[in-house]
Formats: sequence, structure tokens, C-alpha cells
Amino acid sequence: MAIINCPNCTKRMSSLAAACPHCGYPLKESTPEERAKLETRRFNQKVDRAFNLSYLGLLALVVGALWWWFGGAAGWHLPPPVPAFLLVFLGGIAYFFARGWLFWLRMNRRRR
Ligand SMILES: [Zn+2]
Repeated sequence: MAIINCPNCTKRMSSLAAACPHCGYPLKESTPEERAKLETRRFNQKVDRAFNLSYLGLLALVVGALWWWFGGAAGWHLPPPVPAFLLVFLGGIAYFFARGWLFWLRMNRRRR
């Protein structure tokens, strides 16, 4: 008997169990191809989410930068308008977090 990760919810379960105790996924009735397909779909969903976050972060960054440029005095004056600064700051964090997440996802994928 081995402990595996459920192909549906990724929680730990016994490889001998007929179904996942967490989500009820019928492991015994599923074929390896089905499981691989599920895993690929889960992986692609995570990659999509990371991409969406990186685009959202980039958008916030650009909007914040433009706001900073056009809000008040011309150019990137100091101090920046608070909402513009927040957009740039949070957008930057979201973007770099998403890129790191994508990198991590791909590293993990390759190791298998
Ligand atoms: Zn499960």
C-alpha cells in the first residue's frame, strides 16, 4: 500500500482505497489515462490562474504608472498620488508573485 495524492483534489489518500475519502473521486474505476488527463487539466488551470494574476498585476502597474504620470503635476513627481502608488505597488507584487508561481509550477512539472 502506498500513500498517493488524489488526482482530483490532490489530498493524500491510500492507493488501495476505492474512492478518495476527501472528495469521493472513484480511483478504482478510473484508468491511468483518465488520471493523467485530470492532472494535466489541474496543472493547466493553475497555469491559467497564474497567468491571469500576472496580467492583472501588470494592468494595475500600468494604470497606476499612468495615473501617477497624469495625476497632479506632470511626470513621475514625488510624492505620488496614494491610489496610483498603491496600484503600482500591489500590481508589482502581484506580477512578480505570479511569475514566481509560474516558474515554480513549471519546475514542479518537469521533476515528475
Ligand atoms: Zn480527492
